[in-house]
Amino acid sequence: MFKKLLGITATVAVAALVLSGCASTTGTDTTATTGTEAVVESGLIGVSMPTQSSTRWISDGENVKSALEAAGFEVDLQFAEDDIPTQVAQLEAMLTKGAKALIIAAIDGTQLTDVLQAAADAGVPVIAYDRLIVGSANVDYYATFDNFKVGVQQATSLLVGMGVYASEDSTSADGPNAAGPLNIELFAGSLDDNNAFFFFNGAISVLQPLIDSGVLVVKSGQTTIEQAATLRWDGAVAQKRMEDLLVGNYADAKVDGVLSPYDGISRGIIAALTDAGYATMPTISGQDAEVLSVKSILAGEQYSTIFKDTRELAGVAAGMAIALLNGEMPETNDTTTYDNGVKVVPSFLLTPYIVTIDNYKEVLVDSGYIAEADLG
Ligand code: BGC
Repeated sequence: MFKKLLGITATVAVAALVLSGCASTTGTDTTATTGTEAVVESGLIGVSMPTQSSTRWISDGENVKSALEAAGFEVDLQFAEDDIPTQVAQLEAMLTKGAKALIIAAIDGTQLTDVLQAAADAGVPVIAYDRLIVGSANVDYYATFDNFKVGVQQATSLLVGMGVYASEDSTSADGPNAAGPLNIELFAGSLDDNNAFFFFNGAISVLQPLIDSGVLVVKSGQTTIEQAATLRWDGAVAQKRMEDLLVGNYADAKVDGVLSPYDGISRGIIAALTDAGYATMPTISGQDAEVLSVKSILAGEQYSTIFKDTRELAGVAAGMAIALLNGEMPETNDTTTYDNGVKVVPSFLLTPYIVTIDNYKEVLVDSGYIAEADLG
């Protein structure tokens, strides 16, 4: 774990570097010119977040805003409450107000083509924040996490929790329950979010060999992402699907594990299992280290979550926007993975971490991400 925390520190340093390298001049209204490059020292940047229904996006929005403000920019931060026309209207309003750059976490990554064309026509660069915007040439950079790895980690922690893997370092069934058979069900995110595919594919890359060998059994037979998907990542939608799965397939059997891609979905799944009379929860994964789910982990309900440090992501995205406005090249570390159907978007991927009851204190509390008092 110490090694992992060093990793976090290293990426924070990268984010800080991106930021400080690009924002050396702050607080003035002048626009200077060096050679052929315009040096933009202030101005408005639009930050568009999908929803406030999940705490991670609230933190994301606030963190991006304060990073940009610290560099001397004004910020128009909007949340679209998971409504696509609202997000489009908010982005149009940002352009009308004269935003010089847009940082966008899309609700539906396919629905922003027209407003992004308007941004491009006005010379406004666009940073995709955490979620790739697809089908448009007018996405300049992408700040995110290693999303395939998130899925691998979700499946790995599920296997450790069920005792199929002896540890998170296992790559084959070497735990006390290595032989199975164990019943699992699969949940995926929203199909309009490109990340949902990366998470699911990452998880399936780990689970498929064990499904094929009979160690894991998906009694419902619902193994495709279309069958497992949860529109808008909505916990209530997942709760209903879990209820249906239980009624349809588990009248005389028990669920041993549930692959869940996001903490809000995990809580819906737990509600369905509780209603169905489960006194002890099966192993359930998650994502985002939301306070409610960390509490659930401490209560022995949810097994794991994935911590993605939104402070780091905010620093990287803000640094990218500032670099572009200063005529500099933002730092990237992946220029092959994220093809949006029109172009491969140059990306900076941060590292996700598995969190369980064993390391939540070190990873979440000691790093200042969650206050211990909030978990009481
Ligand atoms: C994000 C996840 C989040 C999910 C639901 C995804 O695009 O990458 O961190 O759990 O959306 O909000």
